[in-house]
Amino acid sequence: MAEVAEESTHVWSHQARIVLFLSAMRHFRDALCERGITVHYRELGDPNNAGSLRKELMATVSWLCPQRLIVAEPGEWRVAQILNETARALGLELEVRPDRHFLSSREDFARHMAGRKQLRMEFFYREMRQRSGVLMQDGEPIGGAWNFDAENRQSFGQSGPGSVPRPIPFPPDATTLAVVEVVRRTFSKHPGNLDKFDWPVTRPEAQHALADFIANRLPLFGVYEDAMWTGEPWLYHSRLSAAMNLKLLNPREVIAAAQKALQKRKAPLAAVEGFIRQILGWREYVRGIYWHFMPEYVERNALAATLPLPQFYWTGDTEMNCLRHALRQTLDLGYAHHIQRLMVTGLYALLLGVKPQAVHEWYLAVYVDAVEWVELPNTLGMSQFADGGVMASKPYVASGKYIQRMSDYCASCRFDPAKVTGENACPFTTLYWDFLLRHEPGLRKNHRMAMQLKNLARLESGRRSQIRSQAGRIRNELVAAPSEV
Ligand SMILES: Cc1cc2nc3c(=O)[nH]c(=O)nc-3n(C[C@H](O)[C@H](O)[C@H](O)COP(=O)(O)OP(=O)(O)OC[C@H]3O[C@@H](n4cnc5c(N)ncnc54)[C@H](O)[C@@H]3O)c2cc1C
Ligand code: SF4
Repeated sequence: MAEVAEESTHVWSHQARIVLFLSAMRHFRDALCERGITVHYRELGDPNNAGSLRKELMATVSWLCPQRLIVAEPGEWRVAQILNETARALGLELEVRPDRHFLSSREDFARHMAGRKQLRMEFFYREMRQRSGVLMQDGEPIGGAWNFDAENRQSFGQSGPGSVPRPIPFPPDATTLAVVEVVRRTFSKHPGNLDKFDWPVTRPEAQHALADFIANRLPLFGVYEDAMWTGEPWLYHSRLSAAMNLKLLNPREVIAAAQKALQKRKAPLAAVEGFIRQILGWREYVRGIYWHFMPEYVERNALAATLPLPQFYWTGDTEMNCLRHALRQTLDLGYAHHIQRLMVTGLYALLLGVKPQAVHEWYLAVYVDAVEWVELPNTLGMSQFADGGVMASKPYVASGKYIQRMSDYCASCRFDPAKVTGENACPFTTLYWDFLLRHEPGLRKNHRMAMQLKNLARLESGRRSQIRSQAGRIRNELVAAPSEV
């Protein structure tokens, strides 16, 4: 195991993301050593640290002289290439073993794809339910339906969320504090804050976090999974993604714990199904897409977007209240929930026309749960529609009114989500109509965009020019202050 600087610098990683990965590695090393297993481990501060996975592997092999290399499937195409090339250079056989922390394999996904013109998560998810028997009875979905979206996805209304049970914090222990110190020293210019670091970094901590979520937040997970509220980063979300991605938790045990809550009547079916869908459905589906379409996937840019990422994505300094909150929370905690990622930070970049590769690099850098197999299809495909519809059946575009409906952000914003043009027009709303105008010909082929385009058709030409010029002014301001990163 090697802590190498290159893994934290190939994108400009959030300090909390680096600490979480390295602390989990050190705790895992210590747990293995306690079991009497020999671990060859290179710490970041070691003067002999070669700085890259390739160099560390070369150096270790030169004195261990193994007969072959055995690895579990890595989470990134780039790392798989490094391992392949290094093994080839060393003249060693490389055996890649399936990653047991997933419920479907790359081959399963390829079989699912075979003969299909169009991929849809829903069909993949139903297959996964049938294959695994999760939430199934006598071959039929429990409750008689595959999803309960009609009961889920509500907003809090004006009264707000009230008191939401806080997730259990895991204050840094001595091992984590040592990592914090070395990360502060080595990556001092990297984005993010370490003052509030309280992520689970060991398997027992992750199990504790799972039990806490199931007991206290799962029952209302579905109802409020799309809602946002000022000063409430977690709401009813599990914050278990990083623990699963780091393999501190097996997704099977997470799914089993949710099913048990249903059996014991501790959580309603709509919440349990909504939660399990994210893991058995989306999580497995995006991994399938990643490995099936890489390496060309990362280059896709179906909407030909070219702008740089606004500099304020790295600081949170913007007058747009929703973005300011989502960005500052991200920099503070390395966390934002799905709708903040998709319908605030992602939506703005999409509407503005930011190059998808710049958006991808930002998402891979700033979230503690970011690993490329899950981050890339979510960013490039679901959020930016840059894969032209592999991941999502239509671009996730909306005006500021969506954010107004799902949060309290607009109530204290200097912009008005209902205004398309003029001094206090909401930039999301202006750019939403401009997006439809810019992409109208291409979107006409997509029947799921019919309603939005019908509304667009009502705009007369004078109104269209006003929208275009206001959107042009927003973009000019961005070009006048280009990103330094
Ligand atoms: C632009 C963008 C980038 C994203 N980048 C990442 C990333 O780097 N790493 C990551 O783990 N997730 C990513 N996601 C998916 C999702 O936003 C996070 O998994 C979730 O917000 C993590 O918080 P949570 O654990 O509280 O999730 P919850 O809301 O409690 O959901 C439960 C679990 O379901 C899984 N899940 C939910 N949605 C997705 C999804 N769309 N794809 C895959 N798994 C999902 C996660 O494992 C999560 O822990 C991204 C989404 C978007 C729109
Ligand atoms: S008015 Fe627009 S910019 Fe302001 S919070 Fe609402 S959606 Fe965001």
